[in-house]
Amino acid sequence: MATRLRERIRDIIFNDDFACFNCGEEIIDNGHNHLCDKCFKQIDFIESGCVRCGEKVSKFDKYCEKCRNSPNFYFDANISVAKLDGISKTLIYRLKFGGKKYIAKCLACFMRDRAESVISDKIDYVCYVPVTNDRWQERGYNQSEEIAKEFSRLTNIKLYQNLFIKIKETVDQTRLNREERARNLKDAFFIQDNADVKNKNFIIIDDVITTGATLNALAKILKKKGANVVYGLTFCHR
Ligand SMILES: [Zn+2]
Ligand SMILES: [Zn+2]
Repeated sequence: MATRLRERIRDIIFNDDFACFNCGEEIIDNGHNHLCDKCFKQIDFIESGCVRCGEKVSKFDKYCEKCRNSPNFYFDANISVAKLDGISKTLIYRLKFGGKKYIAKCLACFMRDRAESVISDKIDYVCYVPVTNDRWQERGYNQSEEIAKEFSRLTNIKLYQNLFIKIKETVDQTRLNREERARNLKDAFFIQDNADVKNKNFIIIDDVITTGATLNALAKILKKKGANVVYGLTFCHR
């Protein structure tokens, strides 16, 4: 027992300050948000993103091709840190399916840096994309909530816990046609009764944005209830 406790304490200390969250290499305060220099360099950062959906664009473009043609989102903008490949993908995968909750802290640090450089509005609440009860039971946590908690702690923006409820499982929107997409998301999400939304500014956290449909569904609920500004903030953009 004592050994296990010692190991646990060592893990906490080790993970937190001295080891790369991706490869375990020793690091000494390199300013790379818990990643070693080698892993940090392998992240495909989105330095300039589409001002609507956050997709990586060249620094000469304001919008990605999709948003230039049909900018139909309820959220004011989504901001993403990196493309979903290589180490970013591994980090997300381990957080989501590997039980490595501590990775939320690493992702939240990058998301704070990005949000601080892009968002100038005063944000009232940070909330997150919910999961169904079944999914929660299966994983024991919601990865987006874990990121939101860390983000809230880092930024002092108030966390709005359980603002949204998800009552039905949805599938990846990517392969669905327009009709199927609407059916997929219909009646999947609800908001707390009497939620404090009117004239408030929100950041909705998720791990990955794919089509933007989920964020859009939540932003729509907020906007219909009178929210002022709604941002999506996601670690990865597919
Ligand atoms: Zn590393
Ligand atoms: Zn776009």
